[in-house]
Amino acid sequence: KVRVRFAPSPTGPLHLGGVRTALYDYLFAKNQGGEFVLRIEDTDTARYVEGAEDYIEEALEWCGIIPDESPKKGGKFAPYRQSERRDIYDRYTEQILKTDYAYIAFDTPEELDAIRAEFEAEGNVFSYDNKTRNRLRNSIALSEEEVQQLLDEKTPYVVRFKMPVDRTLNLQDIIRGNSSVNTNTLDDKVLVKNDGMPTYHFANIIDDHEMEISHVIRGEEWLPSLGLHTLLYEAMGWEAPQFAHLSLILKPDISTLINKDNIDSITKSFAEEFILKNSQFSLDESSALIKSFFAEVKSPRFKSMLGENDKDNPLTASVKQFLKKGLSGKLSKRDGDKFGFPVFPLDFKDPSTGAVSKGYRENGYLPDAFINMVALLGWTPANDKEILSLEEMGKEFDLHKVHKAGARFSKEKSEWFNHQYIQMTSDDELLQMLKNTDLDFSGVSDEKLIKIIGLMKERAIFPKDIYENGKFFFEAPVSYDEKAGKKAWNEETSAVLGELAENLTNTEFTSEILKHTVHDFAENKGLGMGKVMMPLRLSLVGELKGPDVPDIMELIGKEESISRINNAIN
Ligand code: GLU
Repeated sequence: KVRVRFAPSPTGPLHLGGVRTALYDYLFAKNQGGEFVLRIEDTDTARYVEGAEDYIEEALEWCGIIPDESPKKGGKFAPYRQSERRDIYDRYTEQILKTDYAYIAFDTPEELDAIRAEFEAEGNVFSYDNKTRNRLRNSIALSEEEVQQLLDEKTPYVVRFKMPVDRTLNLQDIIRGNSSVNTNTLDDKVLVKNDGMPTYHFANIIDDHEMEISHVIRGEEWLPSLGLHTLLYEAMGWEAPQFAHLSLILKPDISTLINKDNIDSITKSFAEEFILKNSQFSLDESSALIKSFFAEVKSPRFKSMLGENDKDNPLTASVKQFLKKGLSGKLSKRDGDKFGFPVFPLDFKDPSTGAVSKGYRENGYLPDAFINMVALLGWTPANDKEILSLEEMGKEFDLHKVHKAGARFSKEKSEWFNHQYIQMTSDDELLQMLKNTDLDFSGVSDEKLIKIIGLMKERAIFPKDIYENGKFFFEAPVSYDEKAGKKAWNEETSAVLGELAENLTNTEFTSEILKHTVHDFAENKGLGMGKVMMPLRLSLVGELKGPDVPDIMELIGKEESISRINNAIN
């Protein structure tokens, strides 16, 4: 039976990569008719963040990724929070200590620091492994009596994995295929800390076994642990699950992000971070330099500019290096603030700093659009189909077709998905969404709002765009776009519009009739349609944008339309 789990640590808000892992877990389970488990891996109390677990559950719920078993929901393998499973781990700690795969070690942090320093002094890196363990304070190096005495004295100890000597392990991964690793390159990881709590590695394999997990789908950052995990299963005498490690989500292509409106703010966040690391330079100078690079971001020369390493002065050289690193590789949690897009599903307020990370939900993304976008970061459905519901994705998902290469995040693409889903959302639903924002629609009837939505949704990326781009439906323009004015207005315009306004007093205000009225008016005057329509639009909207003018007039009504025309011509 297929059973998969998503096993986040509550060390902060779930980010895009975490959502994708959870989603692929979920989709694979659905596809295989299996079960999807949420397990909270909270044995690392030092990194525990208040509220993170609730955040993870709420975020998954918003996404529609609903676990079959979880801490809140329970299930036959409860509890699903590792901090509540101590007795289970204690049992297996005893078991592994009886094998030749584990030993106890008494080394204090100070002792280990001293050895590390010794190694460094000789230009080497210390590693607690099969070459050094015989010289350290542990149950392999010490005699049985010595060990017993230390235990009797209640000396704190950890349990370490005893990495076998010179074995070549064959590792299998559904996405990456086979690879191998020699155990001599691996160290003796701590399995149980001196407070008796297991580390991630040990708790993880115990729970995957206990919870009958058949497939472990997780981020690429865990690939280096696969050798250890494989041996842990061997040590315990358990069959290992199958593994699939997902590739990284990569930073967006910066040339698609920078424009003249945001170049200053993007420069600012890069410059501030640069100065944090390179305090010897001045913020002003580094900002200016970074901005000059970003100004070239759309030119094909950009990459080679950063690569050039002629007789740079130290500031230029450091900035280039910083930018090269900062613009490539893994999408990081901080990139959201830097580039101006959310990397978290929901807003998250850090309990210690009070800083709020922006979420997709609060920024107007629809959960289905968000999930659709995330799913395609590393997986291409059959026939290159792009728009799929969660259910459709579950039917189509194929772990073997998940890409080996990293997937580049794109802000444009995520907006494109949201735009598509807005088009698929009914006007009634959009009305509810708008009413759930903090925008004030008092005094505007639902009927009118629905009509506005119908006219404006075509161009909306977010629900609030319907309001932002349609402000003229709610209030008269307070100013007129200058450029548009030059284009639309001449000496005669005021007189023409004045006359039109008069005609309109006797016109029924339906879009159909208005269309004819304006048309006939222009014809009688011997004027082209544009000569009337453009200034009319400018008077009503304040710029030369928006849906058809008669549609606008019908919605804002006779009195308001005439008053706006009169305002404009006086
Ligand atoms: N707790 C680990 C994490 O936070 C889980 C890794 C795994 O899935 O094995 O990523």
